[in-house]
Amino acid sequence: MTEIVRIRTTKHTSIVNITPQIRDVVKRSGVTEGLCLIYVPHTTACVFINEGADPDVIRDIVYALEKLIPWNDPGYEHGEGNSAAHIRSSIVGNSRIVPVVGGSLALGTWESIFLAEFDGPRERKVIVKILREE
Ligand code: ZN
Repeated sequence: MTEIVRIRTTKHTSIVNITPQIRDVVKRSGVTEGLCLIYVPHTTACVFINEGADPDVIRDIVYALEKLIPWNDPGYEHGEGNSAAHIRSSIVGNSRIVPVVGGSLALGTWESIFLAEFDGPRERKVIVKILREE
């Protein structure tokens, strides 16, 4: 079963907690044991899992990515001018797999699933595929 979750990002860099939407897809699928694939089909956005309790963690992740990969660098050649967004999303990655156990995502207590936008605001798609184990 596959569903597309649509997210409208609001800023140039936006980190959106999409855990509720992904949980809803798992629930609708009726799958109790299996895998949940979360895939972002964009070149300047990505998906990651990390702490959802303290917003400073996300702030620090963005801070570190921006420090590591600055927006302006005279060495970039990509004509669109958004090389940093491509590089940041490549490093983070465009998919994650979460086990589905007992009908729920087997996320850790402090974990949440985030869509990361690095060249917004834009309308983004998240493809969610639920694979049944049995
Ligand atoms: Zn580009």
